Amino acid sequence: MKDSPYTSLPSVWNTLKDFKHVIISSHIDPDGDSIGSALGLYHILKSQGIHATIINQHPIPKNLEFLPRDIDKYCTSESQDIQDICSMADAWCILDLNAPQRLGPAVRPLFEAFSGFTFVFDHHVEPVIEVDSLSVIIEASSTCEIIARLALTSSLGISNDAAQCLYTGIMTDTGGFRHSRTNADVMRLAATLIDCGADPVMIYDKVMNAQSFSSMTLLGKALSSLQVEHDGALVLMIMRKEDLHGYSSEDLEGFVNYTLSISGAKIGGLITEWPDETVKMSLRAKPQYEVRSITEHFGGGGHMQAAGARVKHGNLPEIVQTIITLAGEAINR
Ligand code: 5GP
Ligand code: MN
Repeated sequence: MKDSPYTSLPSVWNTLKDFKHVIISSHIDPDGDSIGSALGLYHILKSQGIHATIINQHPIPKNLEFLPRDIDKYCTSESQDIQDICSMADAWCILDLNAPQRLGPAVRPLFEAFSGFTFVFDHHVEPVIEVDSLSVIIEASSTCEIIARLALTSSLGISNDAAQCLYTGIMTDTGGFRHSRTNADVMRLAATLIDCGADPVMIYDKVMNAQSFSSMTLLGKALSSLQVEHDGALVLMIMRKEDLHGYSSEDLEGFVNYTLSISGAKIGGLITEWPDETVKMSLRAKPQYEVRSITEHFGGGGHMQAAGARVKHGNLPEIVQTIITLAGEAINR
């Protein structure tokens, strides 16, 4: 592969393959790429005779529970034997995140106290995490793409189980093969994963047609909250804590995409105020625009066209006003 951004992966595999007990972690509020890459790497390591355990802050969201996994190898911050797993492990792979706080408050201190070898596989720009082996490939559609190419460039073979998981993350992070990272190489990789056993029809159905009834009624409220600014170039969906009582971020998965589906929208955002006073924002931009600078202002990050931030004890009206101002600058830049 000439000029491929993936040429370093075989030497990374050369290092990874010699470890015996590997921990895998991905980001909080996990999505298809977070869970797909963690489980995908798990299956690849297992097929190579390496013991792997996933340690994540949060459990697998309901719509991803169908993915093949060994139940006792997915631990959350609630699991009893996490300390033992950490002391047994000789390497730790961090996936789909580039800042330690994205591991969550229970996993981050374990990772920072870990004395073994550490890897990152990620596709977000400007990492602020210190590890022994950093594979940040921003050209990749998803972390699942990086993990799939890690296996393929080292001729490891991809099992049916690994293929299901890796296809899922590529599908979700490209918004169902629609976002800007979708290209012929990504489609060819998806086809390869289908050849390895991924079922695209079943995966789409399980992942996307999985809203609960209460989440659909919440979507009704969210759509009623839509407001437009800057002559329709900015569309915001704003949910207050009284609307969100009894819900979690998982119930709002995908809501933000409705903001950009309005004609003329260039930047869209879902801003939520949670009962614990945290204000979260999830921003999206059309290809010529960017939203990362807006989330960075609030200490968050992400990609140019999909970024997020959370503000503890945030003042919702002030945050909304600041987003409107910064989005105005981003639209006119
Ligand atoms: P989402 O809006 O779907 O939660 O996230 C979009 C992108 O922004 C993802 O790639 C995610 O990793 C990143 N992101 C979301 N929230 C945060 C955050 O609080 N901090 C950072 N650094 N990145 C975030
Ligand atoms: Mn991702």
